[in-house]
Amino acid sequence: MVDGIADRIGENGSSIKHTLLSAESKDQTTVIKEPLPDHQSGLSKIADLLFDKELGILKSSSEILAVGHRVVHGGEKFSSPVVVDKGVLEDLYKISHLAPLHNPANLKGIEVASQVFPDAKQIAVFDTAFHQTMPDYVFHYAIPETYYKDDGLRVYGFHGTSHQFVSKAAANYCDIPTEKFNAISIHLGNGCSMSAIKGGKSIDTTMGLTPLGGLIMGTRSGDIDPSLILLLGKNHNMTFDEVDTLLNKESGLKGLTGSNDFRDVISKYEKKDAAAILAVEMYVYRIRKYIGAYAVVLGHLDAIIFTAGVGENSALIREKVCEGLEIIHTELDNEKNKNKAPGIKELQSLKSKVKILVVPTNEELEIAEQVSGLLIA
Ligand code: ADP
Repeated sequence: MVDGIADRIGENGSSIKHTLLSAESKDQTTVIKEPLPDHQSGLSKIADLLFDKELGILKSSSEILAVGHRVVHGGEKFSSPVVVDKGVLEDLYKISHLAPLHNPANLKGIEVASQVFPDAKQIAVFDTAFHQTMPDYVFHYAIPETYYKDDGLRVYGFHGTSHQFVSKAAANYCDIPTEKFNAISIHLGNGCSMSAIKGGKSIDTTMGLTPLGGLIMGTRSGDIDPSLILLLGKNHNMTFDEVDTLLNKESGLKGLTGSNDFRDVISKYEKKDAAAILAVEMYVYRIRKYIGAYAVVLGHLDAIIFTAGVGENSALIREKVCEGLEIIHTELDNEKNKNKAPGIKELQSLKSKVKILVVPTNEELEIAEQVSGLLIA
C-alpha cells in the first residue's frame, strides 16, 4: 500500500520519503525534510503518515497485526523468525557484542515500534538465519575451540534475507523445486557478499563473524591477512578502535579510490583513472575467485544470480565477472547483459549450461512473507 524510508536519523538533512502505491495514487512520492534526532522520532513520523486521515492508509494502529524487523545478528540461537518477547529481547542484548554497529539500533527499533504499535506482535527476522545451515567444517575458525564455545566466535554470514529471497525467486523462475536448486548468489550493494546455495540452503558465504569479511565493499576491506591488524597496531600505533574504523569505514572502494559509491568509481574507471581501474580489477577478481571456489563445492550449478544496487545495474561488472567462466559451463550473452528492463532477467548465451540471472532483491517483501508465515503457523 505504501513504501518509505526515514533517512539520516540523527544527522543533518534528515527526511522521510513516502510513496503511495495504490492504483489510484499512481506512485506518488513525497519527501518531507524535517529533523529526526532519533529512531523514536523517525518511526513516530512514519506512524503519523500511516494514520493521516487525508492519506487514508490506516484508521488505527490496531490494523497492524505485526511489525517485521530486520535484525542483523541472531547468533546461533535464532535460525528462523521469532516473536520478540522479554526473553528474546534479553537474548538479543546478550549477542549485541557480535554486531555492535547494527544490533543495538535494531533493538531500539523494536522498542520504539512496540510503543507506536502496542497491539502488534514484534517479529525479528535475522540476516544471519539463512546461513545457519552451513556445515561445521565451514563455520568454524581454526582457532582454539574455547573461543567458539565461550564467545560464539565463528562464521555467521549476513545478507541472508536477500540471498534467501533471490534464490527462491530464481528457483521459481527456473521452474526447479527450491530443494533441488543449486546457485551462487552474488549480492553487490554497499555491502557485498556471496552465498553458495545447495538444494535451496546456504552451505557457505563470504562474510564471516561480522560483515567485514569476504568481498571488497563500499567502505569495507573484505578478506585480509589478520596479521595486517597487528602490524597496523605495532607500526602505526593504532588502537583496536582505530583499526576497526579503518577496515569498516575507510577501506574498500573508498580506501582505494576516495569514493564508496560505485557509480563514481565507474565514471572514474571510464576516464581511465588508474586507482579506479585497479579497484574495479580487485573487486571483480575477488568475486571470480569465490565463484570458482563455490562452483567446486556445489558440484552442480543451476544459476549464478546477481542482485542489489551494483549487481542489478552494472552491466560492466557483470561482464567482467563472467569473463572466462566457460570452465564452469557458463557464458554471458553480452547483448542480453545490456538489457535494462525491470524484473528478473536471463543473461546467458545459448551455449551456456548455467543460467546467469539478475534478480532484484526485495528484503522488505521477504521479511513480510516470513512474518506472515509465522503468524499463520
Ligand atoms: P545497500 O547495500 O545499502 O542496500 P544498494 O543495494 O542500494 O545498497 O546498492 C548501492 C550501490 O549500488 C552503490 O554503490 C551504488 O553506487 C550502486 N549502484 C546503484 N545504481 C547503480 C548503477 N546504475 N550502476 C552502477 N552502480 C550502481
